[in-house]
Amino acid sequence: MRLRNVPGAREAIAESTFCYETPEDMKGLWSRRFNNQNPIHIEIGMGKGRFITELAMKYPEINFIGIEKYSSVLIRGLEKQEELQLPNLCFIRMDAEDICKIFAPGEISKIYLNFSDPWPKDRHAKRRLTSAQFLERYLKIIRPDGSLEFKTDNTDLFQFSLETAETVKEWELTAFTHDLHHDTAMNEGNIMTEYEERFSSMGTPIHKMILKPAIF
Ligand code: SAM
Repeated sequence: MRLRNVPGAREAIAESTFCYETPEDMKGLWSRRFNNQNPIHIEIGMGKGRFITELAMKYPEINFIGIEKYSSVLIRGLEKQEELQLPNLCFIRMDAEDICKIFAPGEISKIYLNFSDPWPKDRHAKRRLTSAQFLERYLKIIRPDGSLEFKTDNTDLFQFSLETAETVKEWELTAFTHDLHHDTAMNEGNIMTEYEERFSSMGTPIHKMILKPAIF
């Protein structure tokens, strides 16, 4: 994603009641933030936030937290939320590497990864959001009956993710497709992200996989 500095983005994020500057303070307490015991779903690398905002509008009985590394991108989702004021949506500006500092064991019911950065060089493989290192981090925060959904246009990243999921035995691959938009069952209720719309309009097939914590 090409990043353009957005003047005032950091300040707006710092001032917003929909963003958390010190999310570590909320570890284990996110239900209090939403004032209910509803499940919490997170999107890591939410970009401009269209996907998670649509989900939050469609499913008011679920709480959503969007996570994004860059202020200049997150600000777009935040501006929309300042208009909408959805009670079940908030954001965190952070690098997902620190995810275990933010959420307590079992605090999260679903993790969405959409069109994650591919980090094509081998030496950067650990930075991929579907690397074994990240899958192990997610295990520390996901409920035993939770799930992880990953969509991408990138065939190499998807293949890497399938192979990685095989090696991390605590995750079980429950479904996958190499052409989401032509897979009736997996595409049911699909909400397109900004990147998904862009790639599918160029005719690029979209891959999707669903993982669940394995039961031993
Ligand atoms: N999910 C959106 C979509 O599908 O339209 C955006 C996809 S964009 C290619 C990937 C986004 O993930 C970028 O906004 C990037 O800043 C964010 N990102 C990448 N690595 C991240 C990390 N470690 N922690 C948080 N956000 C990350």
